Amino acid sequence: MEKYKLYIDGKFVDAETGETRPTINPATEEPIAMVPVATKGDTQRAIAAARKAFDARTWSGMDVRERAKILMKIVDRLRERQEELAQIEAADAGATIRKTSMMDIPIGIEHFKALIELGERAPTYEPLPWIDMPAVSWNFVHREPIGVCAGIIPWNFPFMMAVWKIAPAMIMGNCVVLKPATDTPLTALEIAKTAAECGLPPGVLNVVIGYGSVVGEELCTNPMVDKVALTGSTETGKRVMRLASDTVKKVTLELGGKSPTIICDDADLSVAVDGALFGTFFHSGQVCESGTRCFVPASIYDTFMERLLERTTHIKLGDTADYETTMGPVISASQLKRVLGYIDIGRKEAKLLCGGKRPAHLKKGFFVEPTIFEQVSNSSTIAQEEIFGPVLSVIKYTDLNDAIKMANDSMYGLGGAVFSRDIPKAIDIAKKIRTGTVWINDYHLLNALAPFGGYKQSGVGRELGPQGILEYTQIKHIHVDLALDRSKKFWYDYILND
Ligand code: NAD
Ligand code: MN
Repeated sequence: MEKYKLYIDGKFVDAETGETRPTINPATEEPIAMVPVATKGDTQRAIAAARKAFDARTWSGMDVRERAKILMKIVDRLRERQEELAQIEAADAGATIRKTSMMDIPIGIEHFKALIELGERAPTYEPLPWIDMPAVSWNFVHREPIGVCAGIIPWNFPFMMAVWKIAPAMIMGNCVVLKPATDTPLTALEIAKTAAECGLPPGVLNVVIGYGSVVGEELCTNPMVDKVALTGSTETGKRVMRLASDTVKKVTLELGGKSPTIICDDADLSVAVDGALFGTFFHSGQVCESGTRCFVPASIYDTFMERLLERTTHIKLGDTADYETTMGPVISASQLKRVLGYIDIGRKEAKLLCGGKRPAHLKKGFFVEPTIFEQVSNSSTIAQEEIFGPVLSVIKYTDLNDAIKMANDSMYGLGGAVFSRDIPKAIDIAKKIRTGTVWINDYHLLNALAPFGGYKQSGVGRELGPQGILEYTQIKHIHVDLALDRSKKFWYDYILND
């Protein structure tokens, strides 16, 4: 079994205590590798390495095109390792090989490349209007990296989340300490191996594996860290924001969701039914923007539901290493318990149509059958709280405005979808939904060129797109006096009376 190490200051090292733990495959419950358990001291060493690298200005002061060259080498090498990475990701995260090989790894790598290209195009100089009051001056905005950026990521898309944190930070000249989720540390360490091979200077990227309460909290409180970017639950987001406030760190947060899917009565049902299922059950529902509340009009309700239940039977749970399998387990025993707990609450609040239990044919693994509830009230627990498992709540509506109102009646505001053949109408509904992303006749398609993030308690700031790149910069106003003459600088006389 491979024994992984922390990546600090360009070297692969054990945790200072030598402590290790197994990371397991959630589909088999078998250990697949040993990983170190970092301490606060290990984390401090990683932060110090990033600080030293940043302050030396070798990376931050390098021409962006030079940084891009090194980072593109990493991208090319990751592309060569694509199949191997897909296998590791599938095993560590309980994702199907079908998903990791078709989506997580290739799209993650494409995002890496696109983010580098966006970074190269990001403006570092922006002219301001000429100013002639109180005297002529030339003013401009200079954009710089922030410094040491901590990236804290969840277990649902370990490779892609690592990319979203490290690529924009590094291309803009920052140095990074990345903390993968405790359950899924492997592909982040594989990226580190590739980065080291490709000549990334020491300290620019550090990867520390450990618990949120130890490594995560140190990253949020250490004065040498300038920014924290978290993807995680809303609860953790609140904690991170509070901790980071002591040293007024920049914070961006990508948090939980309870996103709505609004089916219109004129929707193309072949797209809408499969779209609603894809929106909910992709990666066993462990996606922050999953469409977990589906609003279905009464006029087509029976037809829609009949097709929805029939299509659900085509979701295949099983061996995640088999390309035929379309849905894997949830990440851990504790997540399984949590999901089944919500399903029990759902049985009291609504009517269970399918699923609701572990599949009988799978003796091992944290599997839950795709579960659909109907007669759900939007104010019930299963419609308000993020379950992060394969559970869909169907809510019948008669008036479209009511559906939009219910869709917005949530503390979250991350994603959502509208299914309709009438595009202008769908756009109008999309504008009324208070979330950061709305798909029309689709779901889950994230584009590295488009900003992603949350309204309300789903987050602060944006990732991806030019907007996401700028979150890794800060701006400086530079004022250049052009009066060039003491006699014209009458404001100095405010304090000098001669
Ligand atoms: P989590 O909040 O428990 O953990 C996320 C990360 O934060 C992990 O690396 C964890 O170790 C770390 N962490 C935990 N406590 C911490 C603390 N006190 N200080 C600093 N770091 C700490 O979330 P999870 O269970 O790993 O992931 C599931 C959640 O993440 C869901 O709620 C989901 O909606 C959300 N999520 C959001 C997005 C998004 O883009 N908005 C993407 C994926 C997941
Ligand atoms: Mn694992």
